[in-house]
Amino acid sequence: MKKILIIEDEPNIRELVRYNLKSNGYEGIEAEDGYLGVSMVHKEKPDLILLDIMLPGKNGYDICKELREEGNQTPIIMLTAKTEEIDKVLGLELGADDYISKPFGIRELMARIKAVLRRYDNTHESLHPDEHVLRIDDLEINIERHQVKVGERLVALTLKEFELLAYLAENRGRVLTRDQLLDKVWGIEYAGETRTVDVHIRHLRKKLEQDGDEETYIQTIRGKGYKVK
Ligand code: CA
Repeated sequence: MKKILIIEDEPNIRELVRYNLKSNGYEGIEAEDGYLGVSMVHKEKPDLILLDIMLPGKNGYDICKELREEGNQTPIIMLTAKTEEIDKVLGLELGADDYISKPFGIRELMARIKAVLRRYDNTHESLHPDEHVLRIDDLEINIERHQVKVGERLVALTLKEFELLAYLAENRGRVLTRDQLLDKVWGIEYAGETRTVDVHIRHLRKKLEQDGDEETYIQTIRGKGYKVK
């Protein structure tokens, strides 16, 4: 049974979500503040995290950022209040996989959870079972183990950064537009901005390159998009 951690300070929401998770075949566990939330991610190793933004102790953005920085790739769905609309893209840039606005319908929440888990599992099972490792010069992408190395240096990527790099590398030599990348990596149900792609490419380069401004692996094709050479 998939385990889902709800980090949310509003007891009514926690209870409602946990009840519905159970009737949909998931195990729901709860944390009512940010610090407890992070420690439960480490201890319980959930399959997915539902993450409120305004939380006592540590807010949702900080939690998301902290987990991704330590290489934790557990899928995250942010729970945002309507007034925080402007911050949605920020959440995705920090490595969240999706968001849902409060108040949300349970049916919609369950659909989002299912979609994010399916996307995550697909990437992990690998689309090309007999082609697990992609190599571009000294860059090595292990699709199955979700591991990226430059030479001997292990590079910690967020889930989205990894998916973006893997997709570009699988289509080596092809120019991919920002819209294509949004569709493939974030999914058509995510009506995001193409700026999200640029931000992730920038983060990827910073992590992969010796000098963050270089384009050794991912090239910008002006007016078109990106490609791996
Ligand atoms: Ca809250």
